[in-house]
Amino acid sequence: MSRYWSPLVSQLQPYVPGEQPKMNRLVKLNTNENPYGPSPRVLEAIRAQLDDRLRLYPDPESDELRSVIARYYDVVPEQVFVGNGSDEVLAHIFQGLLKQEQPILFPDITYSFYPVYCGLYGVESRVVPLTDEFALDPEDYLVPNGGIIFPNPNAPTGRALTRAEVERIVAGNPDSVVVVDEAYVDFGAESAVTLVDRYPNLLVCQTLSKARSLAGLRVGLAIGHADLIEGLTRVKNSFNSYPMDRLAQAGAIAAFEDEDWFNETRHKVIAERERVSAELASMDFEVLPSSANFVFARHREWGGSEIAARLREQGIIVRHFDRPRIADFLRITIGTAADNDELLQALRTLAD
Ligand SMILES: *Cc1c(COP(=O)(O)O)cnc(C)c1O
Repeated sequence: MSRYWSPLVSQLQPYVPGEQPKMNRLVKLNTNENPYGPSPRVLEAIRAQLDDRLRLYPDPESDELRSVIARYYDVVPEQVFVGNGSDEVLAHIFQGLLKQEQPILFPDITYSFYPVYCGLYGVESRVVPLTDEFALDPEDYLVPNGGIIFPNPNAPTGRALTRAEVERIVAGNPDSVVVVDEAYVDFGAESAVTLVDRYPNLLVCQTLSKARSLAGLRVGLAIGHADLIEGLTRVKNSFNSYPMDRLAQAGAIAAFEDEDWFNETRHKVIAERERVSAELASMDFEVLPSSANFVFARHREWGGSEIAARLREQGIIVRHFDRPRIADFLRITIGTAADNDELLQALRTLAD
């Protein structure tokens, strides 16, 4: 606390990111990074940018990248917004679209950055409890609100809605913006991008950090009606005109051009997720059905923080949230087959 801080800063409760430990030889299954690196074509494209042009500012509107994304999703570039990670895109969404008279809605168990942005931008919110099975019920969102945001698949539960269920929420709230945060959609959920031409209140947010293995490059995007995108662009150009540096723009373009790498690596993650889920279930874990690159599981006897601490002693880091309803759960990122074997072996020895 400092007397020089603004009143707002004194009251902020910032997001606490998963640890990035400095130790070597760790099995790091705590922040949902992709265990298979980015496409070699991405690295090549970034290397090709490393010259004297770095003295120049990048394209402020990332036109080429936005065109590539538009072609990929069969929309027009005016329907695409890009930012420095989807966290930055989400920040602009909270400030530019979700700060309204009425409170916005999001699930009680969800991405913990949402309440942080509410605090930063003074957005009123009301949490909507997930069902007893930790599922999101679309009917719960058909009530007056100033906007709606949820991840699909949800984090940290991993559970997904079908596209028809998402559409029920969007169609039932024509006067509110509905933001679907699809950070994990490529690991097995149905994207709502195909609905954006029919619903001017729908905004779909995605990231290159997870399925495209580029968390270190910081690229996120949003797709929706051109009017929503223009609103976000107004916020962006009142904040930072150049959020996407030259390397990020070039690398992201190459990522969308290597569909084979994308498909191969995400299918490996999906296959490992199914194997890990089955193994955990055989060890007395209750595992929620996951459509993401992580599983959310609780043991029928042992507590969550206890298991996390025991795994840590063996150099395996998983995420534990000390929060109501989910304190007994662990969120375990799917790693390589070797990482996952180490995790499963360590859990077997805990039982001895
Ligand atoms: C990882 C994640 C993000 C943030 O992604 P970045 O693009 O790396 O900022 C956004 N939403 C959810 C639900 C996530 O899990």
